[in-house]
Parts: sequence; structure tokens; C-alpha cells
Amino acid sequence: MRRKTDPQAIAPYLKDASNSPPGAASEVVIPESAEELREFLKTNDQPITVSGAGTGLTASRVPRTGIIISMERLKRIGEVEDGTLCVEPAITLEDLDAHLKGTGWFYPPNPTETLASIGGTLATNASGSRSYKFGVTRDYVLELDILLADGRGARVRRSHSIDRPLELDDGSTIELPSIDYRSPQCKNAAGYYYQPGMDWIDLFVGSDGTLCLITEVRLQLRETPYDFLSGILFMASEEKCWDLVENIRRDRSVNIDPCSLEYFDRHSLMRLKEKFKNVPNAAQAALFFEQDVLHEEGYEPVLEAWYEYLESNEVLLDDSWFAQGPKDVEKFHLFRHQVPLLLNEENSRMGRVKMGTDMAVDDAHFQEMMRFYRKTLEEGGVDYAMFGHIGDNHLHINLLPDKDQSGTAKAVYDRLVDQILAWGGTVSAEHGIGKLKKNYYHKMVGKQTIAKLQTLKDRLDPKGLLGQGNLL
Ligand SMILES: Cc1cc2nc3c(=O)[nH]c(=O)nc-3n(C[C@H](O)[C@H](O)[C@H](O)COP(=O)(O)OP(=O)(O)OC[C@H]3O[C@@H](n4cnc5c(N)ncnc54)[C@H](O)[C@@H]3O)c2cc1C
Repeated sequence: MRRKTDPQAIAPYLKDASNSPPGAASEVVIPESAEELREFLKTNDQPITVSGAGTGLTASRVPRTGIIISMERLKRIGEVEDGTLCVEPAITLEDLDAHLKGTGWFYPPNPTETLASIGGTLATNASGSRSYKFGVTRDYVLELDILLADGRGARVRRSHSIDRPLELDDGSTIELPSIDYRSPQCKNAAGYYYQPGMDWIDLFVGSDGTLCLITEVRLQLRETPYDFLSGILFMASEEKCWDLVENIRRDRSVNIDPCSLEYFDRHSLMRLKEKFKNVPNAAQAALFFEQDVLHEEGYEPVLEAWYEYLESNEVLLDDSWFAQGPKDVEKFHLFRHQVPLLLNEENSRMGRVKMGTDMAVDDAHFQEMMRFYRKTLEEGGVDYAMFGHIGDNHLHINLLPDKDQSGTAKAVYDRLVDQILAWGGTVSAEHGIGKLKKNYYHKMVGKQTIAKLQTLKDRLDPKGLLGQGNLL
């Protein structure tokens, strides 16, 4: 086991991608194996912040005190077995993709930050552009090896419902308290997931480093499609783009069945134009779509169906880009990924902590939400950019205040949150709550539920060592 105590060596672990002020910790502990970690935990009584790759956007791995346990050496990866794969938590999405290349299998949750670790993506229930069709990380977890803060461990399998106690490797058991809270039905990564009769796995996925340390996972894979048909459609008005999304969702058929529907508003396009000169000048919005095509013979019919469909929806095909092969598909993903990267760079340059929303509502509120967002943001007087997972009614709005505008930006953010909650939505659909969104989470679920969730946490981590400052 490696241990780092030198402040310079610890410094990189005290931050994440949210640009929050650095945290504080006395030591970084780096186990070589789950067994070594278990032995360490048995005698540890210091608060623990678990560290993945540090790409999180909510300061959840930024420690307040105590020690950091970095999972970086737990990096084993197995071979595909019946469409499933065992990996240790430090494997990144990039490693996973490389490992799966040529096997005929792929891992569908597609968070755009490929440097994220599998452990981090499980702890935040990450999702990505393809979640519109393929679902979120939680849907792909078949088995988990976990350690509790006191070193007791368990292998948790699908179909092990919370109605039955969790059995630990020392023979002890844990029962969950009964809780009347239900997680929202829209796409959601806010706090502990809770539905009656769900599996224990569903609780541990998305627990933001507060309930357990994940040391291994068996992932469900999917057969790699023959190809992805994809395009970036530039639109002359925002409303036309929103209508197109509604139409695509309504008219879903065998040949029009996208796995990604991603939005770029004009503020995002303006920033992208600095890098990609061929973004059309007149574009006020854009939609990135992708459709998986399982077999070669299906490609032409799907392509023709999309051309016809887009023409009938008045999309200017001459102004749009269509992928001509896997390289273009990759390029389009990079184009999409540039938006958060450019905004994060801009925040670092300006010395701003990221102020980005991650909220979602159900389909019924989609158009109302888009109109409300635009009106509130235009009236708010703070620069912003809006982009992301429009197919799931899940947009990221980044507020980009000048130095003297942080109070105004906060007021705009609060207005957005209040309305989304009034519609029964969530304050986080993919990044989690961590430390930065805690107040909004408490607003979302209410004081009584927080108290009940605290009893749940106490059963699994009675000394309250894990992830202090996150969620609760
Ligand atoms: C440019 C950019 C784009 C992004 N795009 C997306 C996106 O499309 N979708 C999305 O969902 N997210 C996105 N993110 C956010 C980020 O990539 C995810 O939140 C990711 O899941 C974090 O993984 P990580 O390994 O970096 O975790 P960290 O930031 O290190 O930690 C995150 C949380 O996970 C906990 N944790 C880490 N490992 C473990 C473990 N083994 N056991 C228990 N707890 C653990 C930590 O304690 C912490 O609470 C983006 C980030 C950036 C910078």
C-alpha cells in the first residue's frame, strides 16, 4: 500500500473538474488490492473520501478532512464472458472501450468524459448521450463487490432485493429502514435511489462515495452494432429544433429510432465556432442525432428514412453534417464533448466555480421547460450556454457570470430550480449531488426525507466516515 503525506503529492487529489476551491486531507492511501484495502479499513477511524479519476463536477471527491483513499491501483480487467465483463474501479471508460474493441461487444452508457473511472461512474450513476435509448450506468451493473467503511464486504448480485437483508462476509446482516420516499421517474442521479422492492445494487449505484467503496463490478455489455448513423443538424430557429425533437420522439419507428438526441443552443455554437469554422453562421441551434444500426443490410433503409424524415420536417439538409464512417462518428462525439470542455476552460480562465444545471423533467413538460429556460435566461442578464441531452428533457445550462454578477447568477439558478421542482423534476440527472448541489437536493426531497435517508446511511456507515459533506 502506498501512502502519500507530502502536501505537493496530495494536492492533485484535493480537487475535481468543478473548479471548486481545493479541499483538505492529511494523507492519500493507495491500496494495491481490495484485500489490502479491507485490512486497512478494519483499523481506520478517520473520515474517508474515495477518489476516482477526479472528473466529477460536484466536488464530491473533494475532501473536507480526514484521508483520501485513491482506487487508482485497482485496475484489473477481465475477459468478456457471455456478454458480461468484470472490471476493477480504476479502469477508465477509455480503457474499457480500448479493451472491448474488436470483441463484438460495447458498453452503452456513454458519459462524454472518457477519462472518468468506472468506480466514479458507478458512484454517480453517470450517463451520456446514448442514455436516451440505452439507459444509465445503473442498468448495466450485474454484480458489485463492495467494502463498507469498517472493512466488512459483500458481493451484491442483481435480484437481491432490499426486502431481504444484506449479508456481509463476516456473517453479519444489515436491513434497510423503511422509507416512504420515491426517486423521481424522470432521468435522475440525485442522491440515493429509492423505489420499493429495488435491488441493493440500485442503492449502491449513485451513492456518491457515501455508503461503500466499490472494488469490482460485473458489467452487462451489448452487441456492437454494425454502425452508428449520425448527423449534426443545424437549425435556423430554436423552436424548430425543439419541435423536431418532439416529432422524433412521437414518430419513433423501426427506422427512426435514435439512441442520442443532443442539443446545442446558439451560445454553445458561438463558442464552438472558434474551433470549428464550418459551423453555419445562420445556425441558431443544432441537434446531434445517432442511431445504432445492428446489421449491414439495415443501413441504407435507415439512412433513406432519416433523409425523408428530415426533409419533411423542414431541416436544411445542405447546412447539416452527416457521418460518412466511424471516423466521422468519433469526430461528432468530440464536437459534442468540446462544449463542456470549452466552458470548463472558460471558467478556469475567469476563476469561476462551475455553475451548471443538471436538471430533468418528464416528457410532458418538455416544451414548457424549453420556453421557460429561454425566457428566464434571457431576462436574467447573465451570459449562459445550454446544451446536452434534450431527448431526455435533460439540458445542462452553464451560467457564466462576470465578476460582479455571481449574486444575479445564483438568483437565476434558484428560479430555474424552483420551477423544475414544481414540475416534479430532479436537480441532478447525471452528475450527482456531491457538495455543490446539496442545498438543492435538500429542497428537492425535503427535511423529513433527509432525516430518513440519514438513518439509511447510519445502518451502512454508523460512524459516518464515508464521503463527509456529500448529499446529507
Ligand atoms: C468535460 C466533462 C464532461 C462530462 N460529461 C459527463 C456526462 O456526459 N455524463 C456524466 O454522467 N458525467 C459527466 N461528467 C462528470 C464526470 O465525468 C462523472 O461524474 C464521472 O462519473 C466521475 O468519475 P470519476 O472517476 O472522475 O469520479 P471522481 O470525480 O473521482 O469521484 C466522483 C464520486 O465518486 C466516488 N467514487 C469514485 N470511485 C469510487 C469507488 N470505487 N467506490 C465508491 N465511490 C467512488 C467519489 O468519492 C465521488 O463521490 C463530465 C465531466 C467533465 C469534466
